[in-house]
Amino acid sequence: MSEACKSCSHGSSCSDEMKENCEGKSPEQIALEENLGRVKNKLVVLSGKGGVGKSTVAANIAMSLAQEGKKVGLLDVDVHGPSIPRLLGLQGKQPQVVGESRMEPVQWERNLWVMSLGFLMPNDSEAVIWRGPMKIGVIRQFLAQTDWGELDYLVIDCPPGTGDEPLTVMQLLGPEAQAVVVTTPHMLSVDDVRRSITFVGHVGGRMLGVVENMSGFVCPDCGKQHEIFSSKGGEKLAAEMGVPFLGRIPMDPELARAGDEGFNYGKVFPDTETAKAMRAVIEPILQFTGEKAA
Ligand code: ADP
Repeated sequence: MSEACKSCSHGSSCSDEMKENCEGKSPEQIALEENLGRVKNKLVVLSGKGGVGKSTVAANIAMSLAQEGKKVGLLDVDVHGPSIPRLLGLQGKQPQVVGESRMEPVQWERNLWVMSLGFLMPNDSEAVIWRGPMKIGVIRQFLAQTDWGELDYLVIDCPPGTGDEPLTVMQLLGPEAQAVVVTTPHMLSVDDVRRSITFVGHVGGRMLGVVENMSGFVCPDCGKQHEIFSSKGGEKLAAEMGVPFLGRIPMDPELARAGDEGFNYGKVFPDTETAKAMRAVIEPILQFTGEKAA
């Protein structure tokens, strides 16, 4: 046992390999680094406000990347309102516990694995009453102790704002965090996005880009696109702040139904303007993360 191990509280519980690579780190930290080391791209989906469709966009980015043949994990760290299980029709599923402390994420079709606190709650009406340290602990566990395996992308859906959950995720991922900020086109939402972009800079992550959701409404009767909010706020803001604009997704009643009923919109309606818009959003993501040639 090395001198460092003798004075470490974890001392005898570590394997020889852990001792060799530890440099004074805790076993939890080593597990976290090993787990994240198997993930090529870490995308953190943020929004300044709730209800702008952040979870819908996060789920659809994950589904579209999986449909492109990428291996994808989708992690929902919205501790107080996990909506990913409902959006993917996975309510009632539970992750398998492996060994003493590891969990297998729930598989959703081919190439996409999902983890959410929603899987661990006894029922949908249970409220989680946790302060910061408990939330930080569970997010750390999700990142370190979920058996994600080798992934091309881990897409992390955060609750709105810049509180404990997004801060913890950004800090644990460090400079490898690549943020996707979701907004609607109107000015109030756009002001919040400005804060999200500044936040990403402060915590040392990289801004991958802005997605403008609910951008216009395609009328199912006449097929014309109507602007509901003043248009192009997200795109203008991205240009103003010097960050990439990833694209806009229209308001589509069928996309809302897909979220309520938990089906893959892009697969069921592959030829609609909304599905095309969704595919257009992942094009720059694939390009900026080096998964597709420019
Ligand atoms: P957030 O994560 O920002 O709180 P959600 O993704 O939960 O938002 O979306 C809020 C509601 O808006 C959901 O009912 C969802 O189905 C709906 N929604 C999101 N984006 C769209 C869209 N582009 N068209 C129609 N409905 C949408």
